[in-house]
Amino acid sequence: MKIIMLGAPGAGKGTQAIKIAEKYGIPHISTGDIFRANIKNGTELGKKAKEFMDKGALVPDELTCDLVVDRIHQDDCKNGFVLDGFPRTIPQAKALDTALDKDGESIDHAIDIEVPDQNIVKRMGGRRACLNCGATYHIISAPPKTEGICDNCGGKLTIREDDKPQTVQERLSVYHQKTQPLIDYYKKAGILDQVDGTQPLDQVFSMIEEVLD
Ligand code: ADP
Ligand code: AMP
Repeated sequence: MKIIMLGAPGAGKGTQAIKIAEKYGIPHISTGDIFRANIKNGTELGKKAKEFMDKGALVPDELTCDLVVDRIHQDDCKNGFVLDGFPRTIPQAKALDTALDKDGESIDHAIDIEVPDQNIVKRMGGRRACLNCGATYHIISAPPKTEGICDNCGGKLTIREDDKPQTVQERLSVYHQKTQPLIDYYKKAGILDQVDGTQPLDQVFSMIEEVLD
């Protein structure tokens, strides 16, 4: 099963993608996590990506598309994958379609998690992330068992650089301008499903399961 997660920054794409990956036995591929790992490891890609990420801008398509196309051709993607944070622009969606089309394949589901902007701003203030394993928590709606410590790997939880209120506003505006048009793109392709992301985590997952099962 090949799945794309759509939705504003903070809509819950990563949270739900991890659950989908576990249930359906497919890899969770987050471009944001890949860039953050590169930043942590001080790679050239990380240095370039950081400039854009810190401002709340998108990393250019040239640095993003090939990376994803390579990743989905790895062995663990034979039975599918769940893409989180990619595509984020129409050219990225087209690059993905072209790459899959070459192998006679296509995306099965594009799941759009709908959350209004005013909820997003509140959510991002409470997000805590583990830079070690990529797990995400929320101080109120999804707290870790021990404050500040990742349940998964024991890593230290931090506030993401780009979760500061001003950067969140910029990311939302970039989302509306560049990423929201993908909703129509996948609606036209007949593979779009929209779920109400303002519901509690488990209810959002149940709605996604209904779509996928
Ligand atoms: P995205 O990957 O779309 O940027 P995340 O999955 O990181 O979003 O979620 C953003 C924040 O909102 C996190 O702190 C997460 O714990 C929290 N969150 C996710 N889904 C919900 C939900 N349905 N209700 C309340 N909080 C949520
Ligand atoms: P995320 O973890 O999905 O919230 O992504 C964090 C940041 O990484 C974004 O604000 C962008 O700067 C960058 N990023 C992640 N995925 C992409 C993508 N597909 N295209 C461009 N930039 C991306």
